[in-house]
Amino acid sequence: MKTVYFDYNASAPAWPEVVETVAETLRRGGNASSVHGPGRAARAAVERARGAVAGLVDVEATQVVFTGSGTEANNQALKCCGRERFFVFAIEHESVLTPRPDATVVPVLADGTADLAALEALLANADAPSMVALMLANNETGVIQPVAEAVRIARQHGALVHCDAVQAAGKIPVDFDALGVDSMALSAHKIGGSQGVGALILRDGSPIGRFVDGGGQERGLRAGTENVAGIAGFGAAADIVSGRLDDFAALAALRDEMVRRIREIAPGSSVFGESAPRLPNTAKLTMPGVDSDTQVMAMDLAGLAISAGSACSAGKVSAPYVLTAMGVPDAEAITAVRVSLGWNTTGADIDRLVAAWEDLYRRAGEKAA
Ligand code: PLP
Repeated sequence: MKTVYFDYNASAPAWPEVVETVAETLRRGGNASSVHGPGRAARAAVERARGAVAGLVDVEATQVVFTGSGTEANNQALKCCGRERFFVFAIEHESVLTPRPDATVVPVLADGTADLAALEALLANADAPSMVALMLANNETGVIQPVAEAVRIARQHGALVHCDAVQAAGKIPVDFDALGVDSMALSAHKIGGSQGVGALILRDGSPIGRFVDGGGQERGLRAGTENVAGIAGFGAAADIVSGRLDDFAALAALRDEMVRRIREIAPGSSVFGESAPRLPNTAKLTMPGVDSDTQVMAMDLAGLAISAGSACSAGKVSAPYVLTAMGVPDAEAITAVRVSLGWNTTGADIDRLVAAWEDLYRRAGEKAA
């Protein structure tokens, strides 16, 4: 039985063109810092990819710094910006929440969007140069954040803004300048590139310095021999998804049809962040009375890959913090799973998921009776 993949927000399957590009680049070899022919070819591959990744968020290629992951890009922004006070929203990814243990955590509203009034009040009392971190789209709920508005508030208080756009890029249009942020994190594997490649996008004149010390690669902003093949694959993926934003937007119809049918089966099923703008592919929804681990295991047995929480925090048995931040009671939060669709998802895939969902829900109901 073919497994149907509903976990694109964890990692999107690599595009066949990406697999080919990575393999071909590895076969060719060469170090992008070498001056001989193979080195120059490797450099050309990196620079081609830099242009493609720049295009994804509408910046100049010179603003792109390749990193080892989205996590590393977030760490670099928060740890190397020279600011003293940090304001991070409660729903941020762990790679934003943890680099600054002294950061002030800013609340979100019940719909999962940033509480900008709270941000404004906190910044008004900030006693030192600050940085605000607000993601563009949440990995669990898909809720799209009011980043441009947060930037306007931050500017009034002289604060920098870093934006984790790892989940948004390639899924919705992202325009770095229109958002007005100072820095942005991206990750290749969320758009069908390979894992272990990311990018930090910097505004010209950004104060953000290097995080990894060593050689002078990436214009001195990220030491270490470039992952030429992974970067080339990132570029190939960026080119593909940039041309397929309409296909991605169309996933909202499949997602909403799935939710409609699930609610016919269980009218009490909640979808978190439903009233806010969301990524077209994401639903964080509950199966009343059935905990998320049971759902993930039963779905896996039925050949369906879904997620209980963020993949990075798998194994932890507590209510997902993103839902707790939205005020969802623990008893409900532990029955939530994330279903994230992608470029390959079909109507037949949704049929299989809804059938398996109904089967589990009925069986759980019989057991409880
Ligand atoms: N930020 C968000 C919102 C994510 O969803 C993830 C991955 O789960 C990351 C950052 C980390 O990216 P990477 O897996 O490239 O380290």
